[in-house]
Amino acid sequence: MEAALQRPVGTDVPCGACVGCCSSSQFVHIGPDETDALAHIPGELMFQAPRMDRGHVLMGYDEHGRCPMLRESGCSIYEHRPRTCRTYDCRVFTAAELDPLDDGKPLIAQRVEQWMFEFEDDEAAALQQAVVAAAGFVRLHADELPAAVRPVTTTQLAVAAVRVHRVFVRSAPSVDEVIAALEQ
Ligand code: SF4
Repeated sequence: MEAALQRPVGTDVPCGACVGCCSSSQFVHIGPDETDALAHIPGELMFQAPRMDRGHVLMGYDEHGRCPMLRESGCSIYEHRPRTCRTYDCRVFTAAELDPLDDGKPLIAQRVEQWMFEFEDDEAAALQQAVVAAAGFVRLHADELPAAVRPVTTTQLAVAAVRVHRVFVRSAPSVDEVIAALEQ
């Protein structure tokens, strides 16, 4: 997840048959540089993303909350799916000890309940506790964060916690230090 946040690489989530994130009334952001994804999604399914620069679009979902590119066999554009889908990793909720139900995502919550972490050593366990601490801190100080980095949803809070957790490893950072980490 950390690598996916830093570079446009995909995550390697063992989803199995789960399509919870494709079926949970989520808007999929697609950037103007994602020419391959844009070429494989019908134009009428996308619209300009609010409060983003021209060319950034969103793909919506149907009346059942399902992505319009989802079929019975799975994603119909899997090899060409947007970056949002490639980097989505529901284990972020487990890492941050947050509940997808707070975002009204019961299908994702069902999957998240099944994740169990094992830690190779104390350092790994400390990193996960740093993610938890980061989530609590960011939630507590949300009003002090610039709007551009302030999480609105629980999903965004969990991602923010992963983004800044390293400054929480065995230390108690200031709000300014956390803002600097969020803005990197
Ligand atoms: S584009 Fe594919 S991977 Fe992305 S939400 Fe839709 S069905 Fe799921």
